[in-house]
Amino acid sequence: MSHVHIIGGGLAGLSAAVDLASQAQVTVYEAGPACGGRARSFHDKALDTVIDNGNHLLLSANPATFRYLDRLGARDTLKGPGAPVFPWYDLQEDVAWTLRLSPGRIPFWLLQRGSRVPGMRLGDVRALFRLMKADEQASVADCLLPGQFARRLLEPLAVSGLNTDVKRGSARLLGNIVRRTLAKGGNACCPWMAASGLSESFVTPALRYLERFHAEVLTSTRVSALQIDEGTGRVTALETSNGPVMLGAEDSVILAVPSPVAAGLLPGLEGPDEFESIANAHYRLAQPLQPRGALKQAGFIGLVGGVAEWVFLHDEVLSVTVSAANRYADWGQEDMLTHIWAELRQTLDPLIEVPLPEAMPVARLIREKRATFAATPEQDKRRPGAKTAYANLALAGDWTDTGLPSTIEGAIQSGVVAVGALGFRTASAGAAHA
Ligand SMILES: Cc1cc2nc3c(=O)[nH]c(=O)nc-3n(C[C@H](O)[C@H](O)[C@H](O)COP(=O)(O)OP(=O)(O)OC[C@H]3O[C@@H](n4cnc5c(N)ncnc54)[C@H](O)[C@@H]3O)c2cc1C
Repeated sequence: MSHVHIIGGGLAGLSAAVDLASQAQVTVYEAGPACGGRARSFHDKALDTVIDNGNHLLLSANPATFRYLDRLGARDTLKGPGAPVFPWYDLQEDVAWTLRLSPGRIPFWLLQRGSRVPGMRLGDVRALFRLMKADEQASVADCLLPGQFARRLLEPLAVSGLNTDVKRGSARLLGNIVRRTLAKGGNACCPWMAASGLSESFVTPALRYLERFHAEVLTSTRVSALQIDEGTGRVTALETSNGPVMLGAEDSVILAVPSPVAAGLLPGLEGPDEFESIANAHYRLAQPLQPRGALKQAGFIGLVGGVAEWVFLHDEVLSVTVSAANRYADWGQEDMLTHIWAELRQTLDPLIEVPLPEAMPVARLIREKRATFAATPEQDKRRPGAKTAYANLALAGDWTDTGLPSTIEGAIQSGVVAVGALGFRTASAGAAHA
């Protein structure tokens, strides 16, 4: 049986490992103390509870992700309203609304005042077609039409989906999201979140699955070099923090590390080299919120016109996402937490049974400095496919050429594509990008 060495135990590496486990001997080398990479849960001392490094929102139009979860028997670890329901609040204009998409392709929701974006004109939806037809150079801002449809829906969708501001964000990448989601109708847009934590949904079930196939998962094991025989065009050995690993003639390698690490291990590799941060503010409440109406149904709310962008309700913890957060890099932690707390009180108090206290509770700000590559047209062009010049080496990771921005779906899809690039069977036809 051939042996596949997977470097990196984030979701791309785990997805490849899960796909390969029944076909090959598998070893995963993960530098950190646990797998999960940028999508992980941990116990936070200050809050004295388990939190995710960042809130992750998925839409139902994520086929590779749901295939992965189904294979692991973990779909029921997600929670969501089971319908395309998105409560929103405009902090500047003090307007609340709920976007309720109609299930099929025909957008009946646009004709219903109570379901669409308040203040939008029907003609504004032309922006969706402009995004889907955009060329590789175009920015999101090039395709938007001024008005509330852009301000209250497309801009927030772009900033959170691309993690890049609209002036620089790639219209092609956002157009790909629109094609998979809004253009297909509400059934493709149902929101999902990890119910008990990202690790409980995406990591622990994968490790359990891999154990069944006797795959090895070596945490706290950093790979520092690849030895390559240019004559045969093959990787022949790995240098790891636990010593060298010699590869057999049939062995292969999947490099599923972030782009700068991959470029360090594989000289000459060009990948994204500009990054954007995401900040997450977590507040520990004395008791769970008692939400009403659409907030209760969805379990989250989107905000426009302020700093906070998405608020997620997790029992006693309120978690807030701020995307494209490089712009707030100089803002002190305490000031940012206090500012966001005031926005939360303004937004949530009318939507909950018991108002939030004026005094900010125990809180924690986590800034992931290199959360995603900057999804600009220039960075998108730097993304390589899964195949490399070496017959037994493939690339995976959300930064490879998935056609998507940095997302769970892109990461999981890329693992499957890398498996296909090495000539193994894959879980899906998603291997088309190799
Ligand atoms: C705060 C935040 C919020 C996000 N929100 C969303 C969201 O709402 N929806 C969504 O779909 N996506 C979201 N994302 C993006 C998503 O988390 C990533 O796209 C995905 O987790 C990337 O997985 P990956 O396996 O490609 O990379 P990574 O998770 O970076 O995995 C790479 C792994 O390689 C390991 N490694 C590095 N160097 C070495 C080495 N030398 N040897 C061995 N191992 C090594 C790392 O420790 C890491 O575990 C968010 C990301 C962040 C940070």
